[in-house]
Amino acid sequence: PIYLDYSATTPVDPRVLAKMIPWLSENFGNPASRSHAYGWAAEEAVEIAREQVASLIGADPREIVWTSGATESNNLAIKGAARFHSARGKHLITVKTEHKSVLDTCRELERDGFEITWLDVQENGLIDFDVFAAAIRPDTILASVMLVNNEIGVIQDIARLGTLCREKGVIFHVDAAQATGKVAIDLASLPVDMMSLSAHKTYGPKGIGALYVSRKPRVRIDALIHGGGHERGMRSGTLPTHQIVGMGEAYWIARENMGADNERARWLRDRLMQGLMKLDQVFVNGDMDQRVPHNLNLSFNFVEGESLLMGIKDVAVSSGSACTSASLEPSYVLRALGRSDELAHSSIRFSIGRFTTQDEIDAVIEKISASVSKLRELSPLWDM
Ligand code: PLP
Repeated sequence: PIYLDYSATTPVDPRVLAKMIPWLSENFGNPASRSHAYGWAAEEAVEIAREQVASLIGADPREIVWTSGATESNNLAIKGAARFHSARGKHLITVKTEHKSVLDTCRELERDGFEITWLDVQENGLIDFDVFAAAIRPDTILASVMLVNNEIGVIQDIARLGTLCREKGVIFHVDAAQATGKVAIDLASLPVDMMSLSAHKTYGPKGIGALYVSRKPRVRIDALIHGGGHERGMRSGTLPTHQIVGMGEAYWIARENMGADNERARWLRDRLMQGLMKLDQVFVNGDMDQRVPHNLNLSFNFVEGESLLMGIKDVAVSSGSACTSASLEPSYVLRALGRSDELAHSSIRFSIGRFTTQDEIDAVIEKISASVSKLRELSPLWDM
């Protein structure tokens, strides 16, 4: 099988795996054990990883809080800030194309009496700055905007939105789960208060992530998980040393490899796009310039995405139709771009990664082209 679903998850890089193993076996200590060498070794490993993660995003290691992944980070950032600052206001801003872990967290806050503005995006998936600016009110306490969209790969102008938030005294949270190792991030200069990170989108293990919480300016949040007071009280629970070491190493490699990874991905993505655009009635979803090079999202008109996936069983990609949930709703992200139900249903997300080869791309072009042509021949609507 050919794996072109790196935005869903990535394999653990072998170099990362090698670093993780000892922390599951001989070095099994609890990083919170302060009275013996087992604990000291684990704590040191955790702090090295904290520096590695901080260094990919230009943060201070003390600004990194370990979590179980970006879902938890998004929950902690949004609920934590909303609850801590609720005396100041109860209005939040987010965007219709955010990940479910942001949208559903905001919906939960709505049930708790907060008011949410759900921003539309433009046809290319990007936020209109004026629309964002107009949504800010005196009682707005937080805005949450993703850096890179998971379905269409578009990159929002975080610097500009964050600058406005700083001016207006609005806490700015950014979900960067899909951005690490793809977009250069320097929080020393980027006006972002909190940033959600995940390891498994960047060749690290699943089940580990982090939340960046700014110290300058200092951002205060309520904890969601209470207990032993780990992570400066922001997230209790025994730290999973092996996972943390894996995330640190993965981010360290991402920092070293970002240029080369991006260049290769772009070359392969362009080849894939050129190959598939030879078919008629193929449409690109999302802006092609403000976009990570790993992502290609196409709608194949007159073809049902699910049927296309069935026709290319040995190719692992995602479809904009049913896959992300049990429902048959088309992708809400593509709907937010104003795509018709038909085009949203006929979309496929290809995501390229570090281990994708040219042969794989060429094979996928061939398989998709054959499958699309066959399905269209069977379609009563296709008449070309
Ligand atoms: N945010 C975005 C943009 C994502 O793509 C994902 C991945 O599914 C998440 C959050 C959730 O991350 P995790 O799997 O680490 O909880």
